[in-house]
Amino acid sequence: MSTLLVYPLPDARLSLTCDASDRALGSVLSQEENGEWKPLAFFSRKLTPAEQRYSVYDRELLAVYASVRHFSYMLEGRNFTIYIDNKPLIYAFTQKHEKCSPRQIRHLDWIGQFLTDIRHISGSLNVVADNLSRISEIEMPSPIDYKEFAKVQLSDEEFQLLKSCTNSLKFQLLKVPGMDTELFCDVSNGRCRPFVPKESRRRIFETLHNLSHPGVKATVKLVGDRFLWQGYKKQVAEWTRCCVPCQRGKIQRHTVSPLGTYPVPRHRFEHVNIDLVGPLPPSRSYTYALTCVDRFSCWPKAIPLKDIKAETCIRVLCQLDS
Ligand SMILES: [Zn+2]
Repeated sequence: MSTLLVYPLPDARLSLTCDASDRALGSVLSQEENGEWKPLAFFSRKLTPAEQRYSVYDRELLAVYASVRHFSYMLEGRNFTIYIDNKPLIYAFTQKHEKCSPRQIRHLDWIGQFLTDIRHISGSLNVVADNLSRISEIEMPSPIDYKEFAKVQLSDEEFQLLKSCTNSLKFQLLKVPGMDTELFCDVSNGRCRPFVPKESRRRIFETLHNLSHPGVKATVKLVGDRFLWQGYKKQVAEWTRCCVPCQRGKIQRHTVSPLGTYPVPRHRFEHVNIDLVGPLPPSRSYTYALTCVDRFSCWPKAIPLKDIKAETCIRVLCQLDS
């Protein structure tokens, strides 16, 4: 059995078509290429005995959840659409949470981290089976034009300078497999890394980085293992830091504040902790509560509030004092 390795094109639109039967779930990840939808990857798995007892709605939701989880490395930071042939599910994100079971909330919460756009596709238009039957048409996208590369390489001043000045790099003119094009590649570290002219660098970066939006270190390695140009590490690191989908989709750093120390109060009401609680179920049109606890005596107090405006809170606090 051979393994087919495919990745989405950097700017292609993606769609995830999911389906679930009473025994298994499956999905197809497709990308739009020249106005045509082409299948990219497939996922399916058997349902566990417990999952087989789920309602139709829950099984379909599970299919979406499991598929998004499975393809998360390709979907992170990208715009895509989910298609499903279960109509109630397209309203999943607009219904009230009270109506959902904890499992449904968990599943919707995970899916919601990626998107909240689930659309309906009628059974007859469900292209999953169709796409599966045309699996042989899948091709590895190759957005890198090596012929253009070879042309520019010879006239690139930076390359001529690099070639004549460096001792650590070893350039050789090598044939591109499957093409009648020859490229200057560095073979000093046992790998064959073609020199990339200025015009193609950004494209190379996007092709490799947009596969799964890895971090700075991994992207530099990804590019450095396959290509070469002067100062590529710095440039790739900068581009990775500036990548908008990465910034949108990743939490770079959590702020952890050090624990503070508070002096022990010496008399009552020297230090009062206050907090707002709510919104709570309305009681005589009060929906919030201001809670106050004196640190010295631990005396608690809760004051009902109709709103939590700063003026309201200050007013009730001052009244408490008098
Ligand atoms: Zn990125």
